This record gives sequence, C-alpha cells and structure tokens, in this order.
Amino acid sequence: MRFLSLIWIRKSSHGAFVALSVVLVGLTFPVARTFSAQKSRSHRPAHHKLAAATSSVHDCGQGISLHLSAPESTQGSLLLLELQSSAKPLGEVKATWDNKDVPFWKQPKLEEKSPDAWRALLGVDLELKPEAYTLAIAGKTQAAEDFTCAATIAVKEGKFATESLKVAPNFVEPNPEQLARAEAERQRLRAIFATITPERLWDGQFRYPLAGVTTGGNFGKRRILNGKAGSPHGGIDFPAPSGTPVYAAQRGRVVLAEPLYFSGNTVVLDHGLGLYTFYAHFESIAVQAGDLVDTGALLGKVGATGRVTGPHLHWGVTVNRARANPLQLIALPL
Ligand SMILES: [Zn+2]
Repeated sequence: MRFLSLIWIRKSSHGAFVALSVVLVGLTFPVARTFSAQKSRSHRPAHHKLAAATSSVHDCGQGISLHLSAPESTQGSLLLLELQSSAKPLGEVKATWDNKDVPFWKQPKLEEKSPDAWRALLGVDLELKPEAYTLAIAGKTQAAEDFTCAATIAVKEGKFATESLKVAPNFVEPNPEQLARAEAERQRLRAIFATITPERLWDGQFRYPLAGVTTGGNFGKRRILNGKAGSPHGGIDFPAPSGTPVYAAQRGRVVLAEPLYFSGNTVVLDHGLGLYTFYAHFESIAVQAGDLVDTGALLGKVGATGRVTGPHLHWGVTVNRARANPLQLIALPL
C-alpha cells in the first residue's frame, strides 16, 4: 500500500518522485548485485584473471560466452575482451565496434582442459563521443557452425583537466613550411596507426618504458598553448633527466625512428593486431625502422626535442587508431 501511495503522490509533486526513486533503488540494487555475482561465478575458471568482480559476461549460446574486463568504459580507456567456448573449439572470430574491425587472437591454453579462448583489445579513443556502442561478433566453430554475439558497451565522458602551457612560438603558429612538414608527418602517423599487422608480435604483459619511473601523468589533458586551444594530450609524460634510457614496453617492430616536428626524435613500435606504442622527445635514438625488438630493448635516451617545456618521455598507446591511456595497457593481464 505504501508503494501505491508513493506512485500516486508522484503524479502530484516533484518531491515525491525523488522519494519513489530512493525506494526503487533500495529494492533493486541487492537483487542486481546477487544476479551479477552468480553469473560471473558460474562462467569463471579458477585460474582466470580476466573475469574479476567488475567484469561482465554475455551468453552467446552453444556453450560460448563473451567476457569483458569491465561492463562500461570511459574515453581513453582499454577493455580486454575474451570469447570462451567450453565445448566447441572456435575456428573463426570477426567483430566490429564503432564501425571498426576488432581483431581477435587465439589465446594459448594454460592447461589442456582450459576452454578454447580468443581475445581482443578494445581501445576507446579519448575523444570518442560518449554514448553506447554495440560490439557485434560473428564467427564459426571448427565444425563450421555459425554463432553470433552482441554486447552494448557504454562510453562515459572522461574527466580531463585543462592546463595552460608556454612553448616556443613556432610550435603554436608554425610558418607555412613547418606547417606543411607537420601535416605530412601527421598523415604518415595516421597511415601507420591504421595498419593492422595480422601477426601478434607482443607476448605477455607490457612494462613501463623507464626503469623505476611509474609516475606518468597528463593523459587526455585539454591544453591551452600560449593562449590558444591545442589538441588533447594523447599520451602520458614521465619526468626524467636527459640521457635516461628508454626501453621497449613489449616485443614489436620499429616502424618509425626519426625526428618529427612536434614530437622530436620519435620511435614507434608496431606490436601487431593494430596495437602501437609511441615514444617521443628523445635526445638520441638507438634503433632503426625495420628492427624487431624484444621487451626491454634500448630504444633511445630521454631528451627535450620537439614541442616540450623540458626533458621528459612522452609515451602513447594506439589501439586500432584509438588513443588510449598507456597505464591501462600495463595493467591488463595480457
Ligand atoms: Zn607529452
């Protein structure tokens, strides 16, 4: 009866609507929690790190389930996706999200009886419009049976600070020649990041690119340069003195190792499957384009080349053209 009277009051006053909302939240929240806890327990193999309490699971039928490392996302974040098949090994997986193909890889089995698992990294660009996007998956089992699966992933607005910086005037208002160079380099980087090398070159978790420096910041910051609005900061900055060695965060191929207008002496590593790491402002570069480098290989030394206010390492991560927070890449159990 109390419930009914609240509904009736809702029609007559705004204050009562708030009271109704509180009652409903109180009723539904414990139910929802119990449901999601049971669901993730029933799908979670004991050894598996991905299906943590905050993950979400979607049933695709035929004993196939889709696990997301988080049920929602924010601008500039990374999600790890995993398809698990308990009965039928999968032969082919194709997926799209935000009008882009999402490349999956077959995850090596930890034990013989582990379910067949395929994984993908989903990068959410730091300027992607915050709304809900559908992840659509279609594939075949090894016995050529079709399956499909879909999940809606909501993207929330990132909370990024704004900062004002003073840099050399030619980096805010370049002359026509400098502008042409910077634009040509921007197009070149776009083409690199749009290339999806079909082979996965990385093997395991990513590490910090500096030894003992883990306090990088500034990701996504909206910047005012000499009083003019600049593009958001697409990576993180690690403070370090000039000459500090910079190491490869994982195994990959050097696809660019040269001076660029804004980022100074720059190295880009292709880790395969659309995943790239970007290292900028080096004093000197120690690798050449084409080199295949292992995790921890020396790439160069910290410097202050390009558009900077002092020596530091700028480190960026691009997944399928989306600029994501590199600290999230390090945190994923790859
Ligand atoms: Zn930076």
